[in-house]
Amino acid sequence: MPENAVDFHLLYKIMYELTVVFESSKTPNELILGLKQVFKRFFEIKEVEIFSVDENSNCLKNFVKPWENLPDGASCNFLHDVFLQLKENKPYVINGDEIFVPVFSQDKVNGVVKLQGNVQKEEFFSFLPLLSRQISLAVVHLKYFETVINSAKFYETIRNIAKITETQYDLSYILPIMGEIIDGFIKEHLIYIFLKSTHKNEYKLIWPNKCLINNISDYLSKITDSNYLVFDEGKTCIFPLVSKGKISGAVVAYNTIDSLNKSEVKYLEQLAIQASITVDKAKEYMKTLENATLDALTGLNNRHMFYQRLAETTSNARRQKTNLCCIMTDIDFFKSVNDTYGHAAGDLALKTVAKTIKKELREYDIASRYGGEEFAILLPDTSPDEAYKVAERLRKQVEKKKINIEELKIEGVKEISVTISIGVSLYISDKMKDPNDLYKSADKGLYIAKESGRNRVVVSD
Ligand code: GH3
Ligand code: MG
Ligand code: MG
Repeated sequence: MPENAVDFHLLYKIMYELTVVFESSKTPNELILGLKQVFKRFFEIKEVEIFSVDENSNCLKNFVKPWENLPDGASCNFLHDVFLQLKENKPYVINGDEIFVPVFSQDKVNGVVKLQGNVQKEEFFSFLPLLSRQISLAVVHLKYFETVINSAKFYETIRNIAKITETQYDLSYILPIMGEIIDGFIKEHLIYIFLKSTHKNEYKLIWPNKCLINNISDYLSKITDSNYLVFDEGKTCIFPLVSKGKISGAVVAYNTIDSLNKSEVKYLEQLAIQASITVDKAKEYMKTLENATLDALTGLNNRHMFYQRLAETTSNARRQKTNLCCIMTDIDFFKSVNDTYGHAAGDLALKTVAKTIKKELREYDIASRYGGEEFAILLPDTSPDEAYKVAERLRKQVEKKKINIEELKIEGVKEISVTISIGVSLYISDKMKDPNDLYKSADKGLYIAKESGRNRVVVSD
């Protein structure tokens, strides 16, 4: 064979295997691993790296780890130098055992592939231009793929934030859910949710329960309008929650190493707008609901109604000297239901648990959704022994119940199940001057039930 001639048979074999890699790679990492495997078999190439210009920062970034800056120093300068040479139409650059070829995007050099190894075969070099174009195709494809996936996730996130008010009206439940949803979308940063007090210029951390940013109060005090604020070279960004021109709180994104990139900032700005609308809606809804009695998701009494019924039943028990018991329940590890199957599955679980509870109770027992995944039940004319039995029955029935989530079309999952922990208390009229003491006592039992392993009933002293 003449020197530099292309061995078409070999080329065909390599291209076939590479095409399979390109077609099946769903992430940059999979692409690199696939390339390495093919190259290792046909040539003596041990390492493959791809660097590509990041749209947000306009800098060369490792395609697999774009969030990391390239290390400073000679090797980085050399890479930039190579990039410039490739931009000037060099088909490849060789440096010792390293071979660099260009990555194209719309026919412009937009990155570098670095191959490392001792390539002996001559035909490898005649093959490089085709290889470089093929890898470019795969890179462009993966970038589009990522954009599409991200925007799908973004709209899903927006929709989920908008939907919270369909099932929740209490801000102390809404804000943590919102925090979890935004945190799930912005993966590389910590997310905090703050609410502004209505009277003072003070912000209270609502979610999660600890903030790692040292100067956060200082930063928050700088909010004047709906514009986002950037601190610590972009490592801390504050997105105000503003409704009807009034600042109601803030979503804060924080990362110890990296700054937020342009597209994350854009996403967060939109998410903060949706979050403001949700907070606003919840506040309005709260006002209307003061007159309503039922919880929208479960059809049980809402919390407002629970307090009313608590006042009535304790007063009856006191006057008529009858027994009154209270059951407080809380779904075990409910957060992981949301995290694993999504909030819609969580909602279905709540509905199913509420239905199961309702079915097990007598006509005159009063079941309420106390909030989130907590239910409160008042049992008039019931001794603690009977109340314990009811609670045990509820616990067993919930444990047994299959929650059908087929409608959510989650691959391989048709049904899930949950357990509940329960605290039971008895109303003691001489000791409990305040009706609230009754459910607080049941809550103590619930706390012990959780601490001692969950999925159990504890009767308070
Ligand atoms: P534990 O066993 O200690 O109770 O663990 P947990 O995960 O259940 O406890 P935690 O209180 O940390 O989590 C409660 C979760 O309930 C957090 C929130 O996302 C979820 N939640 C509250 N209200 C709703 C709702 O209306 N719908 C859905 N899907 N989730 C909700
Ligand atoms: Mg709870
Ligand atoms: Mg729980």
